[in-house]
Formats: sequence, C-alpha cells, structure tokens
Amino acid sequence: MRVVIIGGVAGGMSAAARLRRLDAKAEIIVLERSGNVSYANCGLPYYVGGLIQNEESLLLQTPQSLHNRFRLDVRVNTEVVEINPSKKEITAVDHGKNSQFSLSYDKLILSPGAAPVRPNIPGIERALSLRTVEDVKAMAQIMSTNPKSAVIIGGGFIGLELAENLVHKRIPTVVIEATEQVMAPLDSEMVSFVHNEIRKHEVDLRLGSSVTHIKDDSVVLANGDEIPADVVVAAIGVRPETTLAVNAGLKIGSRGGIAVDEYNLTSNPDIYAVGDATEKHDALDNSATLIPLANIANRQGRVVADHICGKKIRTVASQATAIVKIFDLTVATTGWNEKKAKAADLDYIVAHTHPSHHAGYYPGAQGMSIKIIVDKKTQEILGAQAVGREGVDKRIDVIATAMRGGLTAPELADLELAYAPPFGSAKDPVNMLGYISENVLNGVTPTAQWNEVNSLVSQGWTVVDVRSKGEFDRGHIPNSINISIDEIRERINEVPKEKILVTCQVGQRGHAATRLLREMGYNAVNLDGGYMTWSHSPANTKVSEHV
Ligand code: FAD
Repeated sequence: MRVVIIGGVAGGMSAAARLRRLDAKAEIIVLERSGNVSYANCGLPYYVGGLIQNEESLLLQTPQSLHNRFRLDVRVNTEVVEINPSKKEITAVDHGKNSQFSLSYDKLILSPGAAPVRPNIPGIERALSLRTVEDVKAMAQIMSTNPKSAVIIGGGFIGLELAENLVHKRIPTVVIEATEQVMAPLDSEMVSFVHNEIRKHEVDLRLGSSVTHIKDDSVVLANGDEIPADVVVAAIGVRPETTLAVNAGLKIGSRGGIAVDEYNLTSNPDIYAVGDATEKHDALDNSATLIPLANIANRQGRVVADHICGKKIRTVASQATAIVKIFDLTVATTGWNEKKAKAADLDYIVAHTHPSHHAGYYPGAQGMSIKIIVDKKTQEILGAQAVGREGVDKRIDVIATAMRGGLTAPELADLELAYAPPFGSAKDPVNMLGYISENVLNGVTPTAQWNEVNSLVSQGWTVVDVRSKGEFDRGHIPNSINISIDEIRERINEVPKEKILVTCQVGQRGHAATRLLREMGYNAVNLDGGYMTWSHSPANTKVSEHV
C-alpha cells in the first residue's frame, strides 16, 4: 500500500508516524512545500522574542531522522500542485530540482494547514505573516535591523503572542484590532483583564480601529491616524488551505473548510483530510466549525492512520479548548462562549467566580476569574473561560474533561480534585462553579448578571452592597446603598421588602446575604460575580462611583 501525505507538520506527520507504527510495510511518502517538516509552529512567536534562541529547537525532526526511525520518504521543498482523483495520482513540483513529477497513491492524506488571511489593502505586500520557519526567519532578519516601531494588525492569539515577544525585544508595539475586543473566544466582561494586561506592558492597543493603507514606514488607520511602523505584521486570522481540494472536486463545507466525516474521509473514498484545512464537528451541536489548533490536527492524523489500517475508531467531536499566555496572564477557554449561546437562542445560565488559585493563606495566592455557561434545562456545561496568573490551565482542563465526559455543571461540585494549600483549595474553584451553578439552577440563590443591573435599577430595584465601608468607598455601582453583611440583621429596616439586588466584591458574601434576606422573607437576588464582574464590563469601568 502506498500512502501519500500532503503537508508534513502537525496532522500530516502524526498520520505518517502512526501509520508506520501500525504497518511496517506500507510505503509512506510525505510531501512538504516548505524547507522543513515537523517544525514547532506554536513556538515561532517565542523565537521572534528570543526566548527560544536556537532555530534547531523549532525543528523537531528532519527528513533524515524520520527516515532513520520510521523509514518515511519525506521530501521537503516539494509542493503538490494537483490531485487527479480518477487516476489516484498527484502532481508535485520539486522546488530544489526545479522539476515536476507525478506519483500514484492508494490512499491520500491532505494536511496542508491554513493560510494567513491577507486583507486587500494598499501596501499589504510589506506585512509579514507567521506560519512557517521561513516566515520566522524573515521576521528575525528584520528584528536584527533594530526596528524602532512595530504594528501588529489583529488581536487574536498569534498577534498577542507576537506583541509580547516584540515588547520583550523592547520594540514599541501597536496592536490594531477592528472589533472592540481582542481574543474573540472571550466574552466582553472577561476580556477587560486582558486589555488591562496588554496596556500595562505599554502596548498601544487600538480597539475598533482598522488599517486602510500600509506605507513604507507607517500604517494609516481609518480615523486618519498615521502610526510609525518599521515592522508590520498581519495576524488577522487564517483560512483553510483548500485550493488543491477545490481543484480536485472534493466537497467543501459551509464554513469554507474541506468537508470530512467522523473518520476524516473527504467526499472521495481514498482521500482523507486533517487539521486546519478541514471543518470540524462541534461537540455541542455537531455543526460545522473551523478550529485551527494543534491538538485536533494531531488527533485527526492518528484517527486517519487507524482508519486506513482498519482499526476501530472512537470518533470525537471538537470543543475548541485553547490556552494562551499574554504577558503575565493566562487565558484559557473551552466550548462555547456566551455570545454563541445567545446567538443560538439557548436557554442558559451563567456563573462567574473570582477565586485565588490556591489557599489564600498560603503565600503567593493569585486571583483568577472563571466564567461558566450552562444549559438551563439539561444542566450541560456549554463552555467556560478563565483568566488569571496561575492555575488557569488546570481549571479549564478539568472543565474540558468534565464536558467530554458528559458531567453536568452541578456535578463539578462532586469532583475530588488534588488539594494541599500550595496547589488549590479544599473547595477548588471548579467545585465552586458546581456549587454556584447548582444554587442558581435549583433556585436556592437566584442571580442577576452584570449586564442586567441598569435595567433592574430602572425597574425600581435597590442595589444593596454588603461589602465593608472601605471596600465600598474604593468603588461601587452608582446609587447603591452600603450595608455590610455583618450589619444586615441590625439595619434590616433600611432594606426594602421587594426588588433587592445584593452585591459584594466577587459574589460570595452576596450569596450569603441573599440567602439570609430570602430566609427573612425578602425578595433578594445576588449579583453574579459581584462588583468585580460588573466593574470589568466595558461600559461599567467608566461609571463606577468612587468616593
Ligand atoms: P500545519 O501544521 O500548518 O502544516 C501544514 C503544512 O502543509 C505546512 O508546512 C505547509 O507548508 C504544507 N503545505 C501546504 N500546502 C502544501 C502543498 N500544496 N504541498 C505540500 N505541502 C503543503 N495551536 C495550538 O493548539 N496551540 C498553540 O499555541 C498554537 N500556536 C501557534 C502559533 C503560530 C505562530 C501558528 C502559525 C500556529 C499555532 N497553532 C497553535 C496552530 C497549530 O500550529 C495548527 O493548528 C497546526 O499546526 C495545524 O496542523 P496542520 O497539519 O493542519 O497544518
């Protein structure tokens, strides 16, 4: 059997290595357009910043090492230019020898990845992209000329990783983002932590701005601003690399990726496709989705090898679990965000918590913020997002695993997670999300969200802030009254019987006060995530009252 693989990095090379482990005799040929295979594209931004110093560290394998260990026939600088499905043949150009050749296959695996989106603006030729080792070398070369200014177009994870690395190189950096927030997977009240972090590190973050013109030494924005730019990087996102598939008549899905079934078979029974070039099946609703992430590409490569070798396959849909470091912050997400749940018109609840990453009394505790979105009827976890300095990865990974295992949100309370003071809390933040969700879902503590406060106040609700006077004076929701939780029983005559919105710093004391008031016959509702969540929403950062 001859298997030809187009693209020799994440998905393609996983498929090749797994195939060899399952079939010692198969002829496996990997054709790779760039000069390298198995390179660490996820590490490229850190090479730009100098954190990864040796180019060799990015090159995990070479054609020779792959031949030595796996007897793979790996050909770099070799670009496939055509697939002929009826002849079961590909045509490729060997850029090294400047020659063209054809190759037949029994099975073909496409793993050509994604191409950076290049907006159609004058001067775009000057903008660098970051996808391959060649790209990073071009970037490193410009860095060696001591640039005095850099503009990154796009506030997604690659743009922000690059911004961090350019700051590390002490290059004044501007990030231009067309929408009102960076990191689209985050909801607006979670992303302001990230905006603050970026600006704290002196990146000039321009939200709601777009570039109209790239000049020789500057970029021009739609509002007329002209920003000096010795370096310009386009990091606007990626689109599936589908040219070969389109020309071969393979089915392209509704989201513009190569359509594949649960075994990654394309519309042709002898051609598979994996990785960024393909559409994935969303774990929540099975809809087509694009998720350009390394874990999925690797897993799909393995699935394809197993399928070719007749192994039993566990088919898995994708939930888009992702993580990124942005300066000293970690941002991680899994599943759907609230924007998506709302757009799908789901009936859901949301819970926020702002715990310490380990026991508060143990030195070094760092705050974090976690949000969970839960289907109101089924109690299924729809998604979660977390931002903080430490321990964010572990919480999102636990929730992602719970989602994969089909646990409901209240069942997060039942998880026995490893605990000692340097590592966590006896009630881990993930357990807390379970407790909060359960209290909201079964009506023990009704909550309101940060974006409902204005409407509730205009309907005559009274905001009762149960923090200490000192905390209240440092900032509070306008027109709220301050009765500390310890004084509620004595000052109960100041509290109206109906329409009470209780708030505190993070929602915990508010929960206790709400329970107390409800037990006393008052109609109280807790503000989920408290003042912390409310004050981090974009509009409220400006209106918070300080005494
Ligand atoms: P790729 O790994 O991109 O491989 C595709 C290969 O196909 C390329 O080398 C290309 O040269 C080759 N090719 C294309 N067309 C042809 C052709 N016609 N003939 C021959 N060869 C061809 N993901 C994460 O999960 N976490 C991260 O932290 C992360 N960081 C990233 C940082 C950067 C800078 C980049 C660029 C990506 C990052 N990713 C990250 C995404 C991750 O790298 C991709 O999801 C993953 O590599 C996709 O695997 P793939 O096999 O589909 O494509």
